[in-house]
Amino acid sequence: MVCLGIAQGLFVTLRALFRKPFTVQYPEEKLPIARRLRGNEFFWDIERCTGCATCAKLCPQGNIEIVTHPEGGRYVVDKYEIDTGRCIFCGCCVESCPFDALHFGRSFEKAEYTRKSLVKSRDDLRHEVDLSTFVRPRFEQMSDEERAPIPYGTPQELGAGKEVA
Ligand code: SF4
Ligand code: SF4
Repeated sequence: MVCLGIAQGLFVTLRALFRKPFTVQYPEEKLPIARRLRGNEFFWDIERCTGCATCAKLCPQGNIEIVTHPEGGRYVVDKYEIDTGRCIFCGCCVESCPFDALHFGRSFEKAEYTRKSLVKSRDDLRHEVDLSTFVRPRFEQMSDEERAPIPYGTPQELGAGKEVA
């Protein structure tokens, strides 16, 4: 019986030798990732953002800091920061933005050496990223060229930027 057990074990090992591996040699090789992946990066569209702060109010972690001032009947965004170090990638901010101004990127390799570097400023958030289609599946049917600019009215055409006191 012992011999049979050893033979069975060896058979399993031998069979595995001729199978294609399930693993890949990351980071040299990478598996394909879904279009809707919530990566650990964001893209913020300054042209579309109205400074409404809906994203900041909805963030359960209080990660988004936004500072605005009224000018010419609309809000001008002076500061827009996301602390990705505290982010749980729930997507509430992206989902709640009424003007499609905030998006996830699809990269997940955004490690930094300090926590401070994980706080992304408005300039960091405007770097070109591979946009995730999370909550915006219509992007899946579009090429990158079709996706930019997003085929909607401007925030002003959509009723944003009302007179502020
Ligand atoms: S994904 Fe969630 S936790 Fe992260 S900034 Fe957006 S709302 Fe906050
Ligand atoms: S919800 Fe959208 S439009 Fe409003 S402040 Fe956030 S990113 Fe800008």
